[in-house]
Amino acid sequence: MKIYDFLIIGAGSAGCNIAHYLQKNGKKIAVIDKEGIAGGGSGAAGAFLSPLPGKENPYNSFVNSALMYSLKFYEEFAPQALNKRGVLRVANNNFESEKLQSNSIKSRYLNTKELQEISQNFTQIDGYFYENAAILNPNEICKKLIEKCDFYKEDVSELIFEDGFYIFENFKAKTVILAQGVIKPLVQTPYIEISPIFGVKIDVKTTTKVPFNIHKSISISTNKSDGTVAIGATKERHDTAKMECITSCDKCAFYVNSEQGQIETLLREADELIKLENLEVVKIYRGARATIKSYFPVIGKVVNFNESLKKYPSIKNGTKIPPNLLEYYPNLYIINALGSRGFVLAPYLAKILGENILNDTPMPKELSSEKLFYKTARKN
Ligand SMILES: Cc1cc2nc3c(=O)[nH]c(=O)nc-3n(C[C@H](O)[C@H](O)[C@H](O)COP(=O)(O)OP(=O)(O)OC[C@H]3O[C@@H](n4cnc5c(N)ncnc54)[C@H](O)[C@@H]3O)c2cc1C
Repeated sequence: MKIYDFLIIGAGSAGCNIAHYLQKNGKKIAVIDKEGIAGGGSGAAGAFLSPLPGKENPYNSFVNSALMYSLKFYEEFAPQALNKRGVLRVANNNFESEKLQSNSIKSRYLNTKELQEISQNFTQIDGYFYENAAILNPNEICKKLIEKCDFYKEDVSELIFEDGFYIFENFKAKTVILAQGVIKPLVQTPYIEISPIFGVKIDVKTTTKVPFNIHKSISISTNKSDGTVAIGATKERHDTAKMECITSCDKCAFYVNSEQGQIETLLREADELIKLENLEVVKIYRGARATIKSYFPVIGKVVNFNESLKKYPSIKNGTKIPPNLLEYYPNLYIINALGSRGFVLAPYLAKILGENILNDTPMPKELSSEKLFYKTARKN
Protein backbone atom coordinates (compact mmCIF):
# COMPACT_ATOMS: atom_id res chain seq x y z
CA MET A 1 0.00 0.00 0.00
CA LYS A 2 1.33 3.41 -0.99
CA ILE A 3 1.64 5.90 1.88
CA TYR A 4 1.27 9.66 1.50
CA ASP A 5 1.59 12.48 4.01
CA PHE A 6 -1.50 14.19 2.62
CA LEU A 7 -4.47 13.17 0.54
CA ILE A 8 -6.20 16.15 -1.04
CA ILE A 9 -9.74 15.73 -2.34
CA GLY A 10 -10.43 18.19 -5.14
CA ALA A 11 -8.07 19.33 -7.88
CA GLY A 12 -9.37 22.85 -8.36
CA SER A 13 -7.60 26.07 -7.51
CA ALA A 14 -7.92 25.38 -3.75
CA GLY A 15 -6.73 21.76 -3.78
CA CYS A 16 -3.91 22.33 -6.27
CA ASN A 17 -2.52 25.33 -4.40
CA ILE A 18 -2.43 23.63 -1.00
CA ALA A 19 -1.00 20.49 -2.65
CA HIS A 20 1.76 22.58 -4.23
CA TYR A 21 2.56 24.39 -0.99
CA LEU A 22 2.90 21.17 1.02
CA GLN A 23 4.81 19.34 -1.74
CA LYS A 24 7.28 22.25 -1.95
CA ASN A 25 7.78 21.82 1.78
CA GLY A 26 8.86 18.21 1.38
CA LYS A 27 5.55 16.39 1.79
CA LYS A 28 4.35 13.45 -0.28
CA ILE A 29 0.98 14.30 -1.77
CA ALA A 30 -1.86 12.50 -3.54
CA VAL A 31 -4.57 14.59 -5.18
CA ILE A 32 -7.91 13.02 -6.15
CA ASP A 33 -10.65 14.45 -8.33
CA LYS A 34 -13.51 12.67 -10.05
CA GLU A 35 -13.57 15.20 -12.89
CA GLY A 36 -9.84 15.42 -13.56
CA ILE A 37 -7.60 18.42 -12.89
CA ALA A 38 -9.54 21.72 -12.89
CA GLY A 39 -12.67 19.80 -13.87
CA GLY A 40 -14.97 21.70 -11.45
CA GLY A 41 -15.57 25.43 -11.00
CA SER A 42 -11.89 26.18 -11.53
CA GLY A 43 -11.89 25.00 -15.15
CA ALA A 44 -14.76 27.38 -15.92
CA ALA A 45 -13.18 30.39 -14.24
CA GLY A 46 -12.11 33.55 -16.08
CA ALA A 47 -9.63 33.42 -14.29
CA PHE A 48 -9.41 37.15 -13.71
CA LEU A 49 -7.20 38.50 -10.93
CA SER A 50 -8.54 41.92 -9.99
CA PRO A 51 -8.53 44.23 -6.99
CA LEU A 52 -11.68 44.76 -4.94
CA PRO A 53 -12.33 48.51 -4.89
CA GLY A 54 -14.15 50.50 -2.26
CA LYS A 55 -13.36 52.12 1.09
CA GLU A 56 -11.07 49.91 3.11
CA ASN A 57 -12.87 47.23 5.15
CA PRO A 58 -11.76 43.85 6.54
CA TYR A 59 -12.96 41.92 3.49
CA ASN A 60 -11.49 44.06 0.72
CA SER A 61 -8.21 44.46 2.68
CA PHE A 62 -8.02 40.68 2.83
CA VAL A 63 -8.81 40.28 -0.90
CA ASN A 64 -6.35 42.97 -1.94
CA SER A 65 -3.53 41.54 0.21
CA ALA A 66 -4.26 38.15 -1.35
CA LEU A 67 -4.17 39.69 -4.82
CA MET A 68 -0.73 41.23 -4.34
CA TYR A 69 0.62 37.99 -2.89
CA SER A 70 -0.91 35.84 -5.63
CA LEU A 71 0.16 38.05 -8.53
CA LYS A 72 3.76 37.81 -7.34
CA PHE A 73 3.40 34.08 -6.81
CA TYR A 74 2.07 33.43 -10.34
CA GLU A 75 4.62 35.78 -11.92
CA GLU A 76 7.43 33.75 -10.39
CA PHE A 77 5.88 30.31 -10.66
CA ALA A 78 4.23 30.33 -14.10
CA PRO A 79 4.77 33.61 -15.96
CA GLN A 80 3.65 31.96 -19.22
CA ALA A 81 0.18 31.27 -17.76
CA LEU A 82 -0.30 34.91 -16.68
CA ASN A 83 -1.29 37.90 -18.77
CA LYS A 84 -0.93 41.06 -16.69
CA ARG A 85 -2.31 44.08 -18.54
CA GLY A 86 -4.52 45.63 -15.86
CA VAL A 87 -8.28 46.07 -15.68
CA LEU A 88 -10.75 48.84 -16.46
CA ARG A 89 -13.65 48.91 -14.00
CA VAL A 90 -16.79 50.49 -15.31
CA ALA A 91 -19.29 51.66 -12.70
CA ASN A 92 -22.45 49.61 -12.18
CA ASN A 93 -25.07 49.23 -9.42
CA ASN A 94 -22.72 47.31 -7.14
CA PHE A 95 -19.72 49.49 -7.81
CA GLU A 96 -20.87 53.03 -8.34
CA SER A 97 -18.33 55.66 -9.41
CA GLU A 98 -18.01 56.91 -5.86
CA LYS A 99 -17.00 53.47 -4.65
CA LEU A 100 -14.51 53.06 -7.47
CA GLN A 101 -12.96 56.42 -6.66
CA SER A 102 -12.62 56.06 -2.92
CA ASN A 103 -10.32 53.17 -2.38
CA SER A 104 -6.98 52.27 -1.03
CA ILE A 105 -5.66 50.89 -4.31
CA LYS A 106 -4.18 53.23 -6.86
CA SER A 107 -6.34 53.73 -9.94
CA ARG A 108 -6.49 56.13 -12.89
CA TYR A 109 -9.72 57.59 -14.23
CA LEU A 110 -10.10 57.27 -18.02
CA ASN A 111 -12.83 59.21 -19.78
CA THR A 112 -14.50 58.15 -23.04
CA LYS A 113 -12.13 60.18 -25.21
CA GLU A 114 -9.04 58.71 -23.55
CA LEU A 115 -10.43 55.20 -23.88
CA GLN A 116 -11.30 55.69 -27.53
CA GLU A 117 -7.75 56.92 -28.15
CA ILE A 118 -6.56 53.57 -26.78
CA SER A 119 -9.08 51.61 -28.90
CA GLN A 120 -11.73 52.99 -31.24
CA ASN A 121 -13.82 49.98 -30.39
CA PHE A 122 -14.65 51.21 -26.88
CA THR A 123 -18.25 52.44 -26.67
CA GLN A 124 -19.29 55.61 -24.79
CA ILE A 125 -17.92 54.38 -21.47
CA ASP A 126 -15.56 55.66 -18.84
CA GLY A 127 -13.96 53.91 -15.90
CA TYR A 128 -11.11 53.40 -13.49
CA PHE A 129 -7.97 51.60 -14.57
CA TYR A 130 -6.12 49.38 -12.08
CA GLU A 131 -2.66 48.29 -13.03
CA ASN A 132 -2.42 45.26 -10.72
CA ALA A 133 -4.78 42.95 -12.52
CA ALA A 134 -4.35 40.00 -14.83
CA ILE A 135 -5.89 36.93 -16.39
CA LEU A 136 -4.61 33.39 -15.87
CA ASN A 137 -4.96 30.16 -17.77
CA PRO A 138 -6.78 28.15 -15.06
CA ASN A 139 -6.16 24.68 -16.51
CA GLU A 140 -2.49 25.27 -17.17
CA ILE A 141 -1.89 26.66 -13.70
CA CYS A 142 -3.71 23.84 -11.87
CA LYS A 143 -1.80 21.18 -13.83
CA LYS A 144 1.54 22.85 -13.17
CA LEU A 145 0.81 23.26 -9.47
CA ILE A 146 0.46 19.50 -8.94
CA GLU A 147 2.96 18.20 -11.49
CA LYS A 148 5.13 16.84 -8.66
CA CYS A 149 2.20 15.23 -6.81
CA ASP A 150 0.44 11.96 -7.68
CA PHE A 151 -2.96 12.51 -9.26
CA TYR A 152 -5.85 10.00 -9.28
CA LYS A 153 -9.08 10.50 -11.22
CA GLU A 154 -11.50 8.86 -8.78
CA ASP A 155 -14.70 9.62 -6.91
CA VAL A 156 -14.27 9.46 -3.13
CA SER A 157 -17.62 8.37 -1.72
CA GLU A 158 -16.64 8.14 1.95
CA LEU A 159 -13.74 8.78 4.30
CA ILE A 160 -12.39 5.68 6.01
CA PHE A 161 -10.15 6.36 9.01
CA GLU A 162 -8.42 3.32 10.55
CA ASP A 163 -5.37 3.00 12.79
CA GLY A 164 -4.37 6.62 12.30
CA PHE A 165 -4.68 6.61 8.49
CA TYR A 166 -7.28 7.62 5.94
CA ILE A 167 -7.54 4.72 3.52
CA PHE A 168 -8.55 4.97 -0.10
CA GLU A 169 -8.28 1.91 -2.36
CA ASN A 170 -4.59 0.96 -2.46
CA PHE A 171 -3.14 3.97 -0.74
CA LYS A 172 -3.42 5.77 2.56
CA ALA A 173 -2.50 9.07 4.15
CA LYS A 174 -2.27 10.42 7.67
CA THR A 175 -4.01 13.66 6.84
CA VAL A 176 -6.82 14.59 4.46
CA ILE A 177 -7.63 18.05 3.12
CA LEU A 178 -11.10 18.61 1.70
CA ALA A 179 -11.06 21.01 -1.24
CA GLN A 180 -14.41 20.00 -2.68
CA GLY A 181 -15.89 23.28 -3.95
CA VAL A 182 -19.69 23.04 -4.28
CA ILE A 183 -19.85 19.24 -3.94
CA LYS A 184 -21.50 17.78 -0.80
CA PRO A 185 -18.76 17.57 1.85
CA LEU A 186 -17.48 14.15 2.91
CA VAL A 187 -18.10 14.91 6.60
CA GLN A 188 -20.99 16.75 8.21
CA THR A 189 -20.29 20.47 8.43
CA PRO A 190 -23.72 22.04 8.97
CA TYR A 191 -22.03 25.26 10.05
CA ILE A 192 -20.47 25.76 6.60
CA GLU A 193 -23.46 26.53 4.42
CA ILE A 194 -22.12 26.54 0.91
CA SER A 195 -24.38 27.90 -1.77
CA PRO A 196 -23.40 27.27 -5.35
CA ILE A 197 -23.56 30.17 -7.77
CA PHE A 198 -23.64 29.05 -11.36
CA GLY A 199 -22.06 30.75 -14.28
CA VAL A 200 -21.00 30.51 -17.86
CA LYS A 201 -17.86 31.66 -19.59
CA ILE A 202 -17.32 31.81 -23.33
CA ASP A 203 -14.18 32.13 -25.40
CA VAL A 204 -14.68 34.17 -28.55
CA LYS A 205 -12.54 34.68 -31.60
CA THR A 206 -12.41 38.31 -32.71
CA THR A 207 -10.23 40.53 -34.85
CA THR A 208 -10.45 43.27 -32.18
CA LYS A 209 -7.51 43.87 -29.89
CA VAL A 210 -8.76 44.31 -26.34
CA PRO A 211 -6.04 46.32 -24.56
CA PHE A 212 -6.81 45.20 -21.00
CA ASN A 213 -9.46 43.33 -19.00
CA ILE A 214 -12.79 45.09 -18.57
CA HIS A 215 -15.21 44.53 -15.66
CA LYS A 216 -18.74 45.72 -15.26
CA SER A 217 -21.39 43.18 -14.30
CA ILE A 218 -19.59 40.82 -16.66
CA SER A 219 -15.87 40.43 -17.34
CA ILE A 220 -14.12 40.66 -20.71
CA SER A 221 -10.49 39.65 -20.98
CA THR A 222 -7.67 41.09 -22.99
CA ASN A 223 -6.67 38.79 -25.88
CA LYS A 224 -5.18 35.60 -24.46
CA SER A 225 -2.07 33.93 -25.87
CA ASP A 226 -4.15 32.21 -28.60
CA GLY A 227 -5.80 35.55 -29.48
CA THR A 228 -9.23 34.62 -28.10
CA VAL A 229 -11.10 36.76 -25.59
CA ALA A 230 -12.94 35.34 -22.56
CA ILE A 231 -16.31 36.74 -21.48
CA GLY A 232 -17.79 35.44 -18.25
CA ALA A 233 -20.02 35.94 -15.25
CA THR A 234 -21.36 33.95 -12.31
CA LYS A 235 -24.73 35.14 -11.12
CA GLU A 236 -27.29 32.39 -10.79
CA ARG A 237 -27.86 31.32 -7.22
CA HIS A 238 -29.81 28.08 -6.86
CA ASP A 239 -31.26 26.19 -3.98
CA THR A 240 -29.25 22.97 -3.91
CA ALA A 241 -32.00 21.20 -2.01
CA LYS A 242 -34.11 21.45 -5.15
CA MET A 243 -31.42 20.23 -7.51
CA GLU A 244 -30.51 16.67 -8.22
CA CYS A 245 -26.90 17.35 -8.93
CA ILE A 246 -24.61 20.31 -9.25
CA THR A 247 -22.12 19.19 -11.84
CA SER A 248 -21.08 21.26 -14.80
CA CYS A 249 -22.30 18.76 -17.38
CA ASP A 250 -24.67 19.78 -20.14
CA LYS A 251 -27.42 17.50 -18.80
CA CYS A 252 -27.75 19.72 -15.74
CA ALA A 253 -31.24 21.23 -15.58
CA PHE A 254 -29.72 24.61 -14.90
CA TYR A 255 -27.77 24.72 -18.14
CA VAL A 256 -30.40 23.00 -20.26
CA ASN A 257 -32.90 25.68 -19.23
CA SER A 258 -30.84 28.81 -19.22
CA GLU A 259 -27.48 28.49 -20.97
CA GLN A 260 -28.47 30.08 -24.28
CA GLY A 261 -30.03 33.04 -22.47
CA GLN A 262 -26.85 33.50 -20.44
CA ILE A 263 -24.65 33.49 -23.52
CA GLU A 264 -26.86 36.08 -25.18
CA THR A 265 -26.67 38.25 -22.05
CA LEU A 266 -22.87 37.96 -21.98
CA LEU A 267 -22.61 38.98 -25.64
CA ARG A 268 -25.08 41.86 -25.24
CA GLU A 269 -23.37 43.22 -22.14
CA ALA A 270 -19.94 42.87 -23.75
CA ASP A 271 -21.20 44.80 -26.79
CA GLU A 272 -22.23 47.66 -24.51
CA LEU A 273 -18.57 48.03 -23.48
CA ILE A 274 -16.47 47.27 -26.55
CA LYS A 275 -17.32 46.32 -30.13
CA LEU A 276 -15.79 42.91 -30.76
CA GLU A 277 -15.52 42.62 -34.55
CA ASN A 278 -15.90 39.36 -36.51
CA LEU A 279 -16.96 37.67 -33.33
CA GLU A 280 -17.38 33.90 -33.15
CA VAL A 281 -18.10 31.88 -29.97
CA VAL A 282 -15.57 29.04 -29.97
CA LYS A 283 -15.96 27.47 -26.53
CA ILE A 284 -18.48 27.40 -23.69
CA TYR A 285 -17.51 26.61 -20.10
CA ARG A 286 -19.93 25.86 -17.29
CA GLY A 287 -19.29 25.83 -13.59
CA ALA A 288 -20.42 26.65 -10.10
CA ARG A 289 -18.49 28.46 -7.42
CA ALA A 290 -18.87 27.96 -3.69
CA THR A 291 -19.87 30.91 -1.54
CA ILE A 292 -20.92 31.34 2.08
CA LYS A 293 -22.76 34.27 3.66
CA SER A 294 -19.73 35.92 5.26
CA TYR A 295 -17.96 35.92 1.86
CA PHE A 296 -14.72 34.97 3.63
CA PRO A 297 -13.34 31.57 2.65
CA VAL A 298 -12.99 28.77 5.21
CA ILE A 299 -9.70 27.07 6.00
CA GLY A 300 -8.31 24.97 8.84
CA LYS A 301 -9.19 22.00 11.01
CA VAL A 302 -12.72 20.65 10.70
CA VAL A 303 -14.83 20.87 13.86
CA ASN A 304 -17.04 17.85 14.56
CA PHE A 305 -20.36 19.63 15.09
CA ASN A 306 -22.37 16.90 16.85
CA GLU A 307 -19.57 15.64 19.08
CA SER A 308 -18.61 19.16 20.16
CA LEU A 309 -22.19 19.97 21.10
CA LYS A 310 -22.61 16.65 22.87
CA LYS A 311 -19.53 17.43 24.95
CA TYR A 312 -20.45 21.07 25.64
CA PRO A 313 -24.23 21.49 25.19
CA SER A 314 -24.09 24.87 26.93
CA ILE A 315 -22.33 26.33 23.85
CA LYS A 316 -25.88 26.69 22.53
CA ASN A 317 -26.62 29.15 25.33
CA GLY A 318 -23.53 31.16 24.67
CA THR A 319 -21.02 29.53 27.07
CA LYS A 320 -17.55 30.29 25.77
CA ILE A 321 -15.57 27.12 25.15
CA PRO A 322 -12.14 27.77 23.66
CA PRO A 323 -11.44 26.24 20.22
CA ASN A 324 -8.76 23.89 21.54
CA LEU A 325 -11.38 22.09 23.67
CA LEU A 326 -13.77 21.41 20.77
CA GLU A 327 -13.97 18.01 19.10
CA TYR A 328 -12.37 17.78 15.65
CA TYR A 329 -12.33 15.12 12.96
CA PRO A 330 -8.88 13.52 13.22
CA ASN A 331 -6.24 15.05 10.93
CA LEU A 332 -8.86 16.59 8.70
CA TYR A 333 -8.60 20.06 7.16
CA ILE A 334 -10.72 22.09 4.77
CA ILE A 335 -10.12 24.82 2.22
CA ASN A 336 -13.33 26.02 0.60
CA ALA A 337 -15.78 28.84 -0.13
CA LEU A 338 -13.37 30.81 -2.28
CA GLY A 339 -16.32 32.56 -3.92
CA SER A 340 -15.80 34.51 -7.10
CA ARG A 341 -12.08 34.90 -6.44
CA GLY A 342 -10.72 31.38 -6.28
CA PHE A 343 -7.59 32.20 -8.24
CA VAL A 344 -6.94 35.43 -6.37
CA LEU A 345 -7.26 33.81 -2.96
CA ALA A 346 -5.93 30.27 -3.30
CA PRO A 347 -2.12 30.83 -3.27
CA TYR A 348 -2.49 33.18 -0.27
CA LEU A 349 -4.81 30.78 1.59
CA ALA A 350 -2.52 27.84 0.80
CA LYS A 351 0.34 29.70 2.47
CA ILE A 352 -1.74 30.50 5.59
CA LEU A 353 -3.18 26.99 5.85
CA GLY A 354 0.16 25.33 5.00
CA GLU A 355 2.00 27.28 7.71
CA ASN A 356 -0.74 26.39 10.17
CA ILE A 357 -0.53 22.69 9.36
CA LEU A 358 3.26 22.48 9.27
CA ASN A 359 4.25 24.98 11.98
CA ASP A 360 1.08 25.54 13.95
CA THR A 361 1.11 29.21 12.94
CA PRO A 362 -2.12 30.81 14.21
CA MET A 363 -4.74 31.54 11.60
CA PRO A 364 -6.84 34.66 11.16
CA LYS A 365 -10.10 34.11 13.06
CA GLU A 366 -12.31 35.26 10.20
CA LEU A 367 -11.08 32.36 8.03
CA SER A 368 -11.50 29.58 10.59
CA SER A 369 -14.20 26.95 10.70
CA GLU A 370 -14.50 27.53 14.47
CA LYS A 371 -16.00 30.96 13.97
CA LEU A 372 -18.79 29.48 11.83
CA PHE A 373 -19.24 26.60 14.25
CA TYR A 374 -19.88 28.90 17.26
CA LYS A 375 -22.29 31.02 15.26
CA THR A 376 -24.37 28.06 14.08
CA ALA A 377 -24.28 26.29 17.45
CA ARG A 378 -25.60 29.39 19.21
CA LYS A 379 -28.28 29.93 16.57
CA ASN A 380 -29.48 26.34 17.12
C1 LIG B 1 -18.03 30.87 -14.66
C2 LIG B 1 -17.06 31.16 -13.54
C3 LIG B 1 -16.19 32.24 -13.65
C4 LIG B 1 -15.28 32.51 -12.61
N1 LIG B 1 -14.39 33.53 -12.76
C5 LIG B 1 -13.42 33.71 -11.83
C6 LIG B 1 -12.43 34.70 -12.02
O1 LIG B 1 -12.43 35.42 -13.01
N2 LIG B 1 -11.45 34.83 -11.07
C7 LIG B 1 -11.39 34.04 -9.96
O2 LIG B 1 -10.45 34.18 -9.16
N3 LIG B 1 -12.35 33.10 -9.74
C8 LIG B 1 -13.36 32.94 -10.65
N4 LIG B 1 -14.33 32.01 -10.43
C9 LIG B 1 -14.39 31.33 -9.13
C10 LIG B 1 -13.41 30.21 -9.06
O3 LIG B 1 -13.57 29.41 -10.19
C11 LIG B 1 -13.67 29.40 -7.80
O4 LIG B 1 -13.57 30.20 -6.66
C12 LIG B 1 -12.63 28.30 -7.69
O5 LIG B 1 -12.65 27.56 -8.85
C13 LIG B 1 -12.89 27.44 -6.50
O6 LIG B 1 -11.93 26.40 -6.54
P1 LIG B 1 -12.13 25.12 -5.68
O7 LIG B 1 -10.88 24.35 -5.83
O8 LIG B 1 -12.60 25.49 -4.32
O9 LIG B 1 -13.39 24.35 -6.35
P2 LIG B 1 -13.49 23.53 -7.71
O10 LIG B 1 -12.66 24.08 -8.77
O11 LIG B 1 -14.95 23.36 -7.99
O12 LIG B 1 -12.84 22.14 -7.31
C14 LIG B 1 -13.46 21.20 -6.47
C15 LIG B 1 -13.19 19.84 -7.06
O13 LIG B 1 -13.45 18.84 -6.09
C16 LIG B 1 -13.86 17.68 -6.78
N5 LIG B 1 -14.54 16.82 -5.81
C17 LIG B 1 -15.45 17.21 -4.87
N6 LIG B 1 -15.85 16.16 -4.15
C18 LIG B 1 -15.17 15.08 -4.62
C19 LIG B 1 -15.15 13.71 -4.26
N7 LIG B 1 -15.93 13.24 -3.27
N8 LIG B 1 -14.34 12.86 -4.94
C20 LIG B 1 -13.57 13.33 -5.95
N9 LIG B 1 -13.54 14.63 -6.35
C21 LIG B 1 -14.35 15.50 -5.69
C22 LIG B 1 -14.76 18.23 -7.87
O14 LIG B 1 -14.86 17.30 -8.94
C23 LIG B 1 -14.07 19.53 -8.26
O15 LIG B 1 -13.27 19.39 -9.41
C24 LIG B 1 -15.27 31.71 -11.44
C25 LIG B 1 -16.15 30.63 -11.33
C26 LIG B 1 -17.04 30.35 -12.36
C27 LIG B 1 -17.95 29.18 -12.20
